[in-house]
Amino acid sequence: MTAKIIDGKAAAAEVRARVAGIAAEFARTTGRQPGLATVLVGEDPASAVYVRSKGKATSEAGMASFSHKLPDTTSETELLHLVDQLNRDDNVDGILVQLPLPPQIDASRVIAAIDPAKDVDGFHPMNAGRLATGLEALVPCTPYGCLYLLKQELGSIAGKEAVVIGRSNIVGKPMALLLIGESATVTVAHSRTRDLPDVVRRADIVVAAVGRPEMVKSDWIKPGATVIDVGINRVPTEDSKSRLVGDVDFAGASERAGAITPVPGGVGPMTIAMLLRNTVVAAHRRAGLSDPK
Ligand code: NDP
Repeated sequence: MTAKIIDGKAAAAEVRARVAGIAAEFARTTGRQPGLATVLVGEDPASAVYVRSKGKATSEAGMASFSHKLPDTTSETELLHLVDQLNRDDNVDGILVQLPLPPQIDASRVIAAIDPAKDVDGFHPMNAGRLATGLEALVPCTPYGCLYLLKQELGSIAGKEAVVIGRSNIVGKPMALLLIGESATVTVAHSRTRDLPDVVRRADIVVAAVGRPEMVKSDWIKPGATVIDVGINRVPTEDSKSRLVGDVDFAGASERAGAITPVPGGVGPMTIAMLLRNTVVAAHRRAGLSDPK
C-alpha cells in the first residue's frame, strides 16, 4: 500500500483564506482589524524566521501585526512590562512571545502574565486547564493543526486507537486532550515508555512529537494507520548541506500507512494557520461576538 500524502500546505491555505474572510467581516462590524502582537527577545535565527513568517501571514490575512523586538539582554521585568502594555492595548487581540527566551527570563512567568483571553499560543495555565476540563479555550496551535488534518482525513475519530509520542505542554499533552475530546482511545508515550514499537503498532492514529529524526520505523506502523509527523529535525547530508526530516521514517512508513504528513509541508504550515485562527477567535470573544465558523 502507498499512503496518501496529507497536504498540510493546501489545508493551511484553506484555513488562512477562511480567516482572511472572517477578519474582513470583523473589521466591517467593529471598525478595527483583529491584531496580533509578536515579541522576539534576542537574535536566535530560527526564532527570527518564525516570528517574521507569523507577522507576514498576519498581514496577509488582513489583520494588524505589531512586532516587538527586544535585545537578548532584556530583563524579565522589562519583558513583563511589555506584556502588561500589550494586555492593556485594545487593538491587540493576540500576544505571542516567541520561545525559547534567554536564560535570565523565566518563560513560565512570562506566559502566566499574558492575559488568557489574548493567549493565542494557548500556553497559559488557564487555557491548559480549560482544555483539560473540556471548557472553551484557546488551544495550542500545533496540536490544533494536527487535529484539523486528522478530522479532514478521517471525519470522525471516535473510538479510534490513538498513540501520541511525546508529552510536552506544547504538543504532546494538548494533542492527547484534543483526541480524548474527540472520543479516541488515547495512549501517551514518552522516553520511559516500554516497548514503544508495540504500543505504536496498535494505533489507528499515530502522532509523533519527539524531536528525534526518523525514530518511528515503518514496521511500527499498523497497515492503514493515519500518521501525523510533528517533528522538525535538521540532519546533515552527504554534500555537507542539511535537510529537514520528521520523527517518522517517511519513506518506509508511507508503504504501510493509509495517510501520512510529509516534513516539510505537513504539520508545519498548519501551526501558523491555527495561530491566525486563534487570533480571530480571540478578537471575537473579546468583542463579545460569537465564535466565527
Ligand atoms: P520536547 O522536547 O518538549 O518533547 C519531546 C517529547 O518526546 C518528550 O515528552 C520526551 O519524553 C519524548 N521523547 C524523547 N525521546 C523519546 C524516545 N526515545 N521515545 C519516546 N519518547 C521520547 O519537544 P516538543 O514537544 O516541543 O517538540 C517535538 C517535536 O516537534 C520537535 O521536533 C519540534 O521541533 C517539533 N515541533 C514542530 C512544530 C511544528 O510547527 N511543526 C511545533 C512545535 C514542535 P520525556 O517527557 O520522557 O522526556
